[in-house]
Amino acid sequence: MEARKIRKTFIEFFQSKQHHYVPSSPIVVKNDPTLMFTNAGMNQFKDFFLGNEVPKFTRTANSQKCLRVSGKHNDLEEVGVDTYHHTMFEMLGNWSFGDYFKKEAIEWAWELLTSVYGLPKDRLYVSVFGGDTGDQLDKDTEAFEIWKGIVPEERILFGSKKDNFWEMGDTGPCGPCSEIHIDLRTDEERIRENGYDLVNNDHPQVIEIWNLVFMQYNRLADGSLKELPAKHVDTGMGFERLVRAIQQKSSNYDTDIFMPFIQELEKKSGKAYGGNEKTDIAMRVIVDHIRAIAFTIADGQLPSNNKAGYVIRRILRRAVRYGYTFLDFQKPFLFELMPLLSQNFGDIFPEVAQQEDFISKVIMEEEASFLRTLDNGLKKLEQIKEEMGKTGRTVIEGKVAFELYDTFGFPLDLTSLIARENGLSVDESAFASEMEIQKNRSRAAAEQETGDWIMVNEDEAVEFVGYDYLQSQSRIIKYRQIKDKKGDRYQLVLDRTPFYAESGGQVGDKGWLQSDAERIQVLDTKKENDLIVHFVDRLPSDFKVVFAAQVNEQKRRLSMNNHSATHLLHAALKQVLGDHVQQKGSLVNEEMLRFDFSHFAKMTEEEIENVEQIVNAKIRENIALGEQRNVPIEEAKKQGATALFGEKYGDFVRVITFDKNFSVELCGGTHVPATGNIGLFKIVSEGSISAGVRRIEAITAKAAEDYINGQLQLIREIQEILKNPRDLKKSLEALLQERNVLKKEIEGLHLKEAASLKNGLMGKAQLVNGVNLIIEQVKLPSADALKKLAFELKHEVADVLAVLAADIEGKPQIAVVISEELVASKGLDAGNTVRELAKSIQGGGGGQPFFATAGGKNLSGLPDVIAKAQVLFGSQS
Ligand code: ATP
Ligand code: MG
Repeated sequence: MEARKIRKTFIEFFQSKQHHYVPSSPIVVKNDPTLMFTNAGMNQFKDFFLGNEVPKFTRTANSQKCLRVSGKHNDLEEVGVDTYHHTMFEMLGNWSFGDYFKKEAIEWAWELLTSVYGLPKDRLYVSVFGGDTGDQLDKDTEAFEIWKGIVPEERILFGSKKDNFWEMGDTGPCGPCSEIHIDLRTDEERIRENGYDLVNNDHPQVIEIWNLVFMQYNRLADGSLKELPAKHVDTGMGFERLVRAIQQKSSNYDTDIFMPFIQELEKKSGKAYGGNEKTDIAMRVIVDHIRAIAFTIADGQLPSNNKAGYVIRRILRRAVRYGYTFLDFQKPFLFELMPLLSQNFGDIFPEVAQQEDFISKVIMEEEASFLRTLDNGLKKLEQIKEEMGKTGRTVIEGKVAFELYDTFGFPLDLTSLIARENGLSVDESAFASEMEIQKNRSRAAAEQETGDWIMVNEDEAVEFVGYDYLQSQSRIIKYRQIKDKKGDRYQLVLDRTPFYAESGGQVGDKGWLQSDAERIQVLDTKKENDLIVHFVDRLPSDFKVVFAAQVNEQKRRLSMNNHSATHLLHAALKQVLGDHVQQKGSLVNEEMLRFDFSHFAKMTEEEIENVEQIVNAKIRENIALGEQRNVPIEEAKKQGATALFGEKYGDFVRVITFDKNFSVELCGGTHVPATGNIGLFKIVSEGSISAGVRRIEAITAKAAEDYINGQLQLIREIQEILKNPRDLKKSLEALLQERNVLKKEIEGLHLKEAASLKNGLMGKAQLVNGVNLIIEQVKLPSADALKKLAFELKHEVADVLAVLAADIEGKPQIAVVISEELVASKGLDAGNTVRELAKSIQGGGGGQPFFATAGGKNLSGLPDVIAKAQVLFGSQS
């Protein structure tokens, strides 16, 4: 069965059991401080488990893009080395939100695997949670009894907390789980050793394929477990592993998911897959990593120097390095796999195919830049080698290896490899301690402690009223404490709130909570999943009272101007530059707006002006805001609403329209009632932020007015400086022209002066022992002029030896020039001479035998230089 068919069969099987199909959420997580990337299918449903939100469907199924390269689930170092862990993989899952529980989950999983996919029953093993004394949990006899009715007892194992208690992160929903493993060894091997003993033992042919998690607890920050309000099922099956089992392969990479990519690499590198351990690993790393890189870029995360962007950069570099070291790829090569990728995954994950050019370009630039770094690093290593050769040392210090790692991106294994090839070694334990020091440093910088939520009023559903009101009567539902470098702060959740929480680029609202007794400042508002969290610096004295929650109106209105202007800008850019313009990031606050978008060239002045004019025309049209809430997503798309890649949309969305033929966007932000409120729009900068991504910064309303007035004021001041000419531009041009004429005149004068100086010096030449001696003190405008003069003397006077002691703008300099013939016949040396003479001006210098210069500190030593030179060469003064 083909991979495509296997995926489709999974979804259809659960649809036949009344499950609702939901698309994969983005691989890059927003609004969840505990997670950078989606690491399991359940992430997007976290709020359903916690009871923060009520699901529309109690049974769902999907295929989720996951990435396990950071945090609690990090498989990066295994990937490519083994054949069944990937960085990015698809997780097939079925869910019950307070609907069915263990019995159905287990029975359906068995039915699908054995009856539908036809996996041999006698190769399957299952594991059940065996209890944990620390958490005071008993073994899962319920699951055990259900399994006993299906599989013989000798293929059921009890597992520890490590394998059979699933947790998303350090805190959050969790529960006991039951895994299904498959033994893919040959029959002889299976007879020789019982598969039972190999389950959960890192055997490459006895692997876990499906995990059925029975969600029933929430892990709190203090480590304790709290029962969830309802019981849920969360299952996750690695798609690539399932395909391998069904296609009876001994490696995930031998399936039709990866084979086309491996074949492409074989062609490119001229090396065959399957013969050599090192090149095999390199190929697996590359075909795995290209998916992780492309999918995350498609979801809006560009490689960068921090957080999620840095994780992507590291994955990309790992792939490049394996290609460089083991497959001899010296030039960017990863990006060339993009056409194959969009061909193979474009149908289920259209975001990749639709942005193929953009993703290619980003990857190519990133590869090229890393290859340059590698190259510099290699040169640096070469230097290190040379220095070590001189001193006879053979162990590269840990500090040095760490610098290579830190500044040149050279991982330890690469440094060690190159060292070994050169008969050297690396002090690996010293490297490890350097690494530890750095980790501690960044840990200390990022340390934040988040306490558990403390309920103060009964848990009601939270209502956001901020689209219609800037004030509401609100009660605090719960609070928690956070501690970090900034000190103690608190987060509050209100039952009703007008505060907009930072999202979609728009900053969170500020304001205050007012009661009869006190006023508490709201410093910021952020989202955590779908929870609206208010940041305050102190807690109220009374949690039971009703507060008047008031948004800082002025700041909010300015942000609204900028947000609506961003929509107009987005639409105008599409009109002027073309439909390839995709939003890649945005920031909207009370001061300005920033908009990042895909476009490959610098915008011309004309394009910028054009965009500005369109936006300002739309402002003057005073178009009324069109706001539709709770539109089914399909209908919104039919209206032509722009959706952003990497953004997670629910089944119902909000659509913001300014003229249905101009700007229609899916957006949760706050907007002006009519475009006229924006007043004025002004772009203040346009530039590049990375390959293929441009950034525009712009301002609106009073800020734009102030900016333009500032520019006008500047012109007025210039006018005044120029004594208020009638035509400012002409007057400036005339001034510049005059300046050019004067400059030329001065240059002419300098030339004349230099010529007369030269002639004077030539006239003073004395013939001593066949040498034309010129020893003089001179005054010159620059070191260049001195050099020029010296060379002219050498050129025009035969057998010359000139010593010029120059005062250059108050600094002493000496030039010595000697004809080549004299250097040869008399063994004279300008370098030695100048060094000797420079002592008189407390300086030093050098050069060649026929020309040398020196600078110094002591101007009053110049006459001494002359006197010394006269003695040296025997001239008469
Ligand atoms: P393993 O012990 O093999 O690393 P796991 O216990 O980490 O697996 P779960 O967290 O239970 O796995 O994830 C559910 C399923 O996802 C697994 O049964 C497996 O099929 C698949 N899976 C997990 N990690 C990976 C990975 N890195 N690459 C591919 N598939 C994976
Ligand atoms: Mg794992």
